[in-house]
Amino acid sequence: MMMMTNRKEGSPFSQLHNAEQLSMPDAINVTPENPLLELFKFVAGFSGIVLVLYAICMYGVAALVPFIPPKDEGIFSPIALEFLKGKKTNPDLEKALQPDFETLLRSVPEVYRKELPLKLHVMDEDQLNAFAIPGGHIVTYTGLLNTFTGRDERLFVLAHEVGHFAKRHHLKKLGQGLSVYLLLMPINIFTPEVGKAFGRFVELDMVKHSQAQELEADLFALETMQTMHLDLMAPVRVFKQFRIANPDEDNHKWEASHPTSIERIEQVRAYLVAHPTVGETKQ
Ligand SMILES: [Zn+2]
Repeated sequence: MMMMTNRKEGSPFSQLHNAEQLSMPDAINVTPENPLLELFKFVAGFSGIVLVLYAICMYGVAALVPFIPPKDEGIFSPIALEFLKGKKTNPDLEKALQPDFETLLRSVPEVYRKELPLKLHVMDEDQLNAFAIPGGHIVTYTGLLNTFTGRDERLFVLAHEVGHFAKRHHLKKLGQGLSVYLLLMPINIFTPEVGKAFGRFVELDMVKHSQAQELEADLFALETMQTMHLDLMAPVRVFKQFRIANPDEDNHKWEASHPTSIERIEQVRAYLVAHPTVGETKQ
């Protein structure tokens, strides 16, 4: 039985018959493939997957960082000190500012006096700037302190930097930067053009995240100042001075790490409107 079946299937007639059976439906139902449509589908699908992975990197890290105890951030302190080593400091100004800085620290979560004690540094440079370094170090320049001689203005600047620690901005930035780098690496290897385009998107998106973090640190500073019964118009005076120092900031808004001074002033004004009793508690 097996041999007979094989002979029948192998006959010239049956081969022709099978060929007709196979080719007929193909000839009728064939839909010409559109290479552009196929490419579009592939690019859209690939981009969708990459964007989902990117969102997981950004929001996943932001959600996980608060679970890291602040004292663990102390591992970055030696790196920060290495960076500061050899920089010209101003010990007199540093000493003069210390009592106000300590008063400020008593109005923020206790962890920043005990688990991750914040340390103040004054660098002797004519720059209108201050920044915070992972590991608990806050740096202000003499240029900023000479411009803002008022206690409330200086405390706003320092409270803003404390805000970066309190909101865990450094760790979020580090974690997000590292995870996005790991995501971009294989894309850059296998599809450099897509990697380049995606890299540009990441750059612009990171700017948006950075600006949002700056506003968050401003908000933290406003809340702290309110607790301390300080003048909440002091930040407005600070931002007006920033505007004078950087008059064309609107032109670089899309690539700047900080929001424009006008946007920051708007947030202060919105805060004052939402907290109408602030003026009454002012010293
Ligand atoms: Zn900042």
